[in-house]
Amino acid sequence: MAVIPQKLRDQVEEADRHCCCYCQTSEVNSGIPMTCDHIVPLSKGGANSFENVCLACRTCNEFKSDLTTATDPLTDESVPLFDPRKQKWSDHFEWSADGIRVQGLTTTGRAMVLALRMNNPVIVAARSRWVASGWHPPVE
Ligand SMILES: [Zn+2]
Repeated sequence: MAVIPQKLRDQVEEADRHCCCYCQTSEVNSGIPMTCDHIVPLSKGGANSFENVCLACRTCNEFKSDLTTATDPLTDESVPLFDPRKQKWSDHFEWSADGIRVQGLTTTGRAMVLALRMNNPVIVAARSRWVASGWHPPVE
C-alpha cells in the first residue's frame, strides 16, 4: 500500500468531510477513522493524487479491493465503478425513506451497492441506531 502524503490526506479529508465517498458513513458516527481509497487501484495504474484518492470506510475499501468494474444485479451488466471525483453520488444512489439503506439508481449505483456490501447487516444495524438518535443521511 502506497503511503499517502499527509498534505494529500488533509486535502482529501476536507473535501470528503470525513465521510465515506461510497456509503457516506461518517467518522463521527462510526468512531473509526476513514481510510484513503485509490479510486483506480495503484495496481491498475491509478495515481497517488487528489483526483484518484477519496475517503472510504474500512468495509467499502475492503470489498472494493482492486476492483474496477462490478455487475449490476438487475441487468447483469458489468460496469465501471462509481468515481466520486468525477461523478455525483446522488446521480447514482439514494437513501431509502427510512434512511437506513443505500439504494442504487443506475447500473453503476446498483453494482456498487452490491459489490461493496453497502447494506451489510452491521452497517444497517448501526444506521438504525443513528437514525433513532436523530441522525439524517447527508444530502448532497
Ligand atoms: Zn463506506
